[in-house]
Parts: sequence; C-alpha cells; structure tokens
Amino acid sequence: MAGISSSAIETLRDQLATATVHIPGSKGHRGCLPHDNHGSGGATWKAVDEAGAAHGLATVGGTVNHTGVGGLTLGGGYGWLSGQYGLTIDNLRSATVVLADGRVMTASATEHPDLFWALRGAGYNFGVVVDFTYQAYHQGNRVYAGILGFSPDRLESIIELLNSLLANPDARSGAMCIFAQAPDGSGPMIIIICFYNGTREEGQERFAGFLALEPVLNTVDIVPYPVVNTLQNPQATYGDRKSFKGIFYEPPLDPGFMRSVFNEFMAKIQDDLDLMPSAIILECIDMRKICETPVPATALASRNLTQNGILYLRWTDPAKDLDHRAWARGVQAKWKAELDARKRDLQGGVEVPQYINYAEPGDSVVPNIYGENLGRLQTLKARYDPNNVFHKMHPIPLPP
Ligand SMILES: Cc1cc2nc3c(=O)[nH]c(=O)nc-3n(C[C@H](O)[C@H](O)[C@H](O)COP(=O)(O)OP(=O)(O)OC[C@H]3O[C@@H](n4cnc5c(N)ncnc54)[C@H](O)[C@@H]3O)c2cc1C
Repeated sequence: MAGISSSAIETLRDQLATATVHIPGSKGHRGCLPHDNHGSGGATWKAVDEAGAAHGLATVGGTVNHTGVGGLTLGGGYGWLSGQYGLTIDNLRSATVVLADGRVMTASATEHPDLFWALRGAGYNFGVVVDFTYQAYHQGNRVYAGILGFSPDRLESIIELLNSLLANPDARSGAMCIFAQAPDGSGPMIIIICFYNGTREEGQERFAGFLALEPVLNTVDIVPYPVVNTLQNPQATYGDRKSFKGIFYEPPLDPGFMRSVFNEFMAKIQDDLDLMPSAIILECIDMRKICETPVPATALASRNLTQNGILYLRWTDPAKDLDHRAWARGVQAKWKAELDARKRDLQGGVEVPQYINYAEPGDSVVPNIYGENLGRLQTLKARYDPNNVFHKMHPIPLPP
C-alpha cells in the first residue's frame, strides 16, 4: 500500500465494512422478491442484519453478529434461517473478486460460473472478495428467541428433548445446546438457545418441553430478527487466547455419551479456572433445505444431515496453548469415534462430517475436507491461483 495515505486506507476500510440493500423496481418498493442484500468484503453480519432489517428483510448469516461476512460466506455459512433458505452460499448471488494476478472478476451463475462454484465452500483459496450480493427475504415479523438456562441434573431430559426436536424438524425453528458456566458465574449450566421464526404461541408450542423443565434462567421473548444474532455475543467477545474445534454428531444424541462429555468438560474448566469462559456448543438445525442442493453443486463438501458443534476453549495464559489445544483434540477425537461408531459407512466413503469453518487450519479430523469436490477444486486452483498466493485457510493442494 506504499504511497497510499492513511486517510485513503481508512476510507477503503470503511467502504469494505458496509452493507447495503438494493431493491429492484421503483423507489421504496418493497414488493416481490428477489431483493439483494450487499455485504462488502470486510463487513460483519451486524451491518448486513441491520441494513436488511431497515427494509423488513433478512438473509442467512452468522449467529454471532460480529463475525465477518467474508470467511463465513466463503466456507459455507449456517445460520438461524438455514432451515428455510439453506446455507449462506445458497443465497449468494454474486461476488466481486480480486484475483492473485490483480484482475477483478464478478463471479455469479452467469459470469465465471466455475469461479462462483469454487467460492461457495472453498472461497478463501481463490482471491479477495470485496463485495458479496445475497438473496434477501421478507422478515417483517419478529421472532421467538432467547435463552433458557438449566441446572446440570436436567441433562438427560434436555438431550431427550433435543432428540425430539431433531426427529421432528421444523424449517422455521432451530436451537443450540451449550455447556458453560452460568452467566453470573454461579456454576455449570446447560443453556438452550431457542429460535422460532413465528409467533410467541408457535414458539412456546415448539419449546414446550423445555419450558416445562423449570429453567432457572429464561430470557425468551418476541424480538426483532437481528437480536437473535446478538444472543451469543457476551460469550463470544474478542480477545483472549482461543481454540475452536469442530465437533459433530449424528442424531439422536446418546444421553450417556453427553453426560460423560459434560462431566469431563466441567471438571477440566473447574480444574483450571483460566478456562472458565469456555463452552461446548451443539447446533440443532433442520438440514433438509440445505440437503436439497447436491454436494457437487457447490464446493462445500459437508452438506449432509450431520449436525455441527464446537468445542470453544478460551484462556489467557500463552504458556498453556499447547496443553489446551492437545486436550481439545482429544475431546474432538472422542466425538469422531462416537460418530464413526454410529455411522460406519463414513469410514471408507467421501462424506465429510466436519464443517470447514469449524476446523482450524491443520485441525481437520478428515484427511480431505473437500471430499468429492477436491479434484475439480485443484483444476480451478491451477487456473485462478497457479502460484498459490491464497494458501492460509485449508489450502487446496495444486495438482502435480
Ligand atoms: C464467535 C464465532 C461465531 C461463529 N458463528 C458461526 C455461524 O453462526 N455460522 C457459521 O457458519 N460459522 C460461524 N463461525 C465460524 C466462521 O464461519 C469462521 O470462523 C469464519 O472463518 C469467520 O469469518 P471471518 O471473516 O470473521 O474470519 P477471518 O478469520 O477474518 O477469515 C477467515 C478466513 O477467510 C478469509 N477471508 C475473510 N474475508 C475474506 C474475503 N473478503 N475474501 C477472501 N478471503 C477472506 C481470511 O483470509 C481467512 O483465511 C463462527 C465463528 C466464531 C469465531
């Protein structure tokens, strides 16, 4: 950036952090879809959520609103609206990309469709995206969302209720189950984040079993859609040292396995209080809409019914980095063994259980995180980035 003044850089940074809504048709028209919701390459989902909400619109974005639009989109993107509309990449209409050789290209279904295919699931290997255009949907109504907190003795009942939600999916609903310390630090807690894109009555019916289980914390209410993507922000603040290990499961969850995970995790963070802000997060998403798109249609390989989760470790002492990461890999290995025991056909197949954005570089539990799409990605990598400039996040090996 030699020769560019700091004010120019600030302007560039500001411009890359914006989100705007473009509504086709007459000025102010809020009629028929599609609407486009634009997020610049450096924007966070907060900007996208708020720009959409100002027009009664929303798209599929991150569940923690200070996450970047860029990495989340380029690796797939699961959000609260995925049950209805699929992944973030399924709602990406076009992207403007700066390639390694400096060319600027628009990628879409009609312009450079091979690059557009690669961006949707392996995107950080192909260039710098400076502009994303998403399909947006009407989201005029408020949503039923919030946090229910339970004492640890409810664990087995909670797991049965989660299994029931997963066995009876509803495209307008989602949930997360979180093992963590209570927000007031009073001890271990099981947290359920509830989401229903509908009325209070519909939400209460969907989560009736949890509400009957006498939560000790209940913040669930009818809120504007962007609020649901702020619920985890207090636990996902910037700073600290962090390890983010993708875990995954094939429903139904086994209550005995979950009890052992809970006990081991709580013992670990109570043994080392520096780990106290850590959490285990299990997502419950209706995957049916996501799976309507075949795996070879985009570069993302983990498009299947396996549910995602995260072992999210936080600490402050750099001397503990290796120890904590090694412990986290051990936990991750137990989840993989549990999955393999239930779904033996994964052993030799190409199905990828691990979501690429929940795998730190070098931490993939599968040898090939691109699955059946690897060959095509290698060909495109050789075409668009032959000198392997973009190689930091899950690099695609160039063909020999
Ligand atoms: C607190 C938290 C909550 C999360 N919640 C969700 C969730 O709800 N759903 C979900 O699917 N995932 C979620 N994730 C995972 C998330 O998708 C990944 O961490 C993703 O990499 C975040 O993107 P970023 O741009 O913020 O990250 P960064 O670390 O900035 O980027 C990640 C990678 O993408 C590249 N990259 C970023 N922007 C661009 C761009 N414009 N052009 C080219 N390359 C780019 C970077 O170079 C880097 O290699 C969450 C992660 C965190 C930490």
